[in-house]
Amino acid sequence: MRLRKSFNAFSLNLALNLNRNLYLITMKIKDITENILGKLNSMSAEDLIKWAFDTFGDRAAIGTSFQLTGTVMVDLASKHVKKFRVFTIDTLRLHPETYDAIKASEKKYGLIIERFTPDDGTLKSMLERFGEYLFFMDKAKQEYCCFVRKVEPNKRALKTMDVWITGLRKDQSDYRKTVPKASLVEEDGRKILKLSPLADWNTEKIWQYIKENNLPYNKLFDKGYDSIGCIICSTPLVKGEPPRSGRWRWFNKEDDNKECGIHK
Ligand code: SF4
Repeated sequence: MRLRKSFNAFSLNLALNLNRNLYLITMKIKDITENILGKLNSMSAEDLIKWAFDTFGDRAAIGTSFQLTGTVMVDLASKHVKKFRVFTIDTLRLHPETYDAIKASEKKYGLIIERFTPDDGTLKSMLERFGEYLFFMDKAKQEYCCFVRKVEPNKRALKTMDVWITGLRKDQSDYRKTVPKASLVEEDGRKILKLSPLADWNTEKIWQYIKENNLPYNKLFDKGYDSIGCIICSTPLVKGEPPRSGRWRWFNKEDDNKECGIHK
């Protein structure tokens, strides 16, 4: 047991200190102990992103909907890692500004962002049964729409990786205020490592990074949006509202748990 722990600590140090760009050092999810998770949770955002790609290569990927944290994570990866994967869930109902942000990022970093879209048959069946605007009907139908357009494509994406790098931050809502930087989560019967490198960053720090580095960002942020998803379901904020209040305004007035189901 002690030998195993030392081996894991040794692997972690190697992964942190050797030439990561060659993807020579690998670790299996089963080797990630509480001790390693503790170390990952104390790393800076750039070290954590670097560690993920250097240790897991193309079995790690940044998942982003091209909001502020995704913009920063992609830039950090571009500065610290030679090769990295980025994926997005294209619900086919995104704002034009979000598609522009995806294109701008691909151009700036020479990336091909992997797009996961809803399953054609399931989407067709949902629309035939309930119509395009089912999310207005009730909470269950909104969650069903989110499942078809977001959660299921995200599950398909996660099958291709062991490390899922997300843009969750503690300051986004009460529901997210305990989000760890690193944790093992169950996904379709197997464990994967979920990382949120910017968990401790606040909005001011994110904007400072974006401005100082002159990064392209989703122009909806200049129009009062703070949390951006699909057209209609995400709206601009009135001054003083919590960040996710603009989501699904017609539901959950008292409830801050405005989640689509991807981060259960
Ligand atoms: Fe459907 Fe709205 Fe969810 Fe997008 S945010 S998947 S349109 S319910």
